[in-house]
Amino acid sequence: MRVKITLACTECKQRNYNTTKEKKNHPDRVETSKYCKFCQKHTLHRETK
Ligand SMILES: [Zn+2]
Repeated sequence: MRVKITLACTECKQRNYNTTKEKKNHPDRVETSKYCKFCQKHTLHRETK
């Protein structure tokens, strides 16, 4: 059961990535370190609705 999520940079709030997750494995909001082209570095990205 995969659901579509958007990952937003927690520093500049830009929505940089669209991805999917397995809801069974990640019932809560996902946080992952990804490259933000606006911050020009790796930042923490968080799932948004
Ligand atoms: Zn950023």
